[in-house]
Amino acid sequence: MTNDTKPKLSVVIPLYNEQANVAALFDRLFNTLGTLPLPWEVVCVNDGSKDETLELLLKEREGRKGMVVVDLARNFGQHSAVMAGFKISRGDWIITMDADLQNPPEEIPRLVDAFQKGHDLIGTIRQGRKDSLFRKFASRITNRLITRMSGISLMDFGCMLRGYSREVVDGILKNPEYRTFIPALATFFARNPTEIPVRHEERTGGSSKYSILKLLSLQLDLMLGFSLWPLRILFFVGTIVALLGLILGLVILALRLYFGTGWAAEGVFTLFAVLFFIVGGQFFALGLIGDYIGRIFQAIRKRPNYVLRETYRDE
Ligand code: UDP
Ligand code: MG
Repeated sequence: MTNDTKPKLSVVIPLYNEQANVAALFDRLFNTLGTLPLPWEVVCVNDGSKDETLELLLKEREGRKGMVVVDLARNFGQHSAVMAGFKISRGDWIITMDADLQNPPEEIPRLVDAFQKGHDLIGTIRQGRKDSLFRKFASRITNRLITRMSGISLMDFGCMLRGYSREVVDGILKNPEYRTFIPALATFFARNPTEIPVRHEERTGGSSKYSILKLLSLQLDLMLGFSLWPLRILFFVGTIVALLGLILGLVILALRLYFGTGWAAEGVFTLFAVLFFIVGGQFFALGLIGDYIGRIFQAIRKRPNYVLRETYRDE
């Protein structure tokens, strides 16, 4: 309704090459926000788009109140963009959503209802999810994983239409972690989380910004960023591989003694197999250790999550 006082609600939207969706998004978003009886603001974070997204955002801003446009210096990724939006936002309630209209803006009042009931973290369950089977399968595994690690049982972490109280957002922002997965991190700071069903739609325009590679790297962030159990697996796998190597070595030695050296020439291949097995295990181990060390490195450098180029806001 009004938005000249300090906003009660902040809607944070990361945008990366979303020129095809900007117009429809803000049409629907501002229509919905207009029906809310509380002051709000919309914080749009342009995550280094290479298309016309920023220009379109600035045009949307003209003649509109309560719209903040943040321009990041380059593409930092969805979660860093949301962090930048969190930092700039001033509302007591913060709602994040995607720019591609897969999350219908019309669902926002229902999240506001949940805030009004005193919830400080509002997750959403996508009804009739419009994504590929592969994406749905990957999500199911991810959701289980986070539930196990955080001990908080929410059903769907993948939907970015979510609500966070100011306290939860401040908790998230205090985290110096270089890369993180916001919906999972939020569960550590929430006292009264809930989950509501929301509609899910096809992407309206443009294409998904997540390639399989990006999804895998998000998955790795999740696993290594939230628990140390990969290190423990490393230990077990290391032990088992080493033991297997030892046993195989003994078997080959025994066979060689029994069959004589004639057999051993063919055994060369077995040895190769053993070698590959062990070397493979070592590489696996090194890769994991490397990633943890990489994280320590990032944390020590305290490199910021994002770099702001410009913020466009009223006053
Ligand atoms: N996004 C972003 N930076 C990126 C990738 C994506 O800000 O590097 C934004 C994108 O513009 C969209 C949201 O994050 O608003 C979700 O991206 P997308 O729809 O491509 O993800 P999907 O729905 O396929 O999971
Ligand atoms: Mg999408």
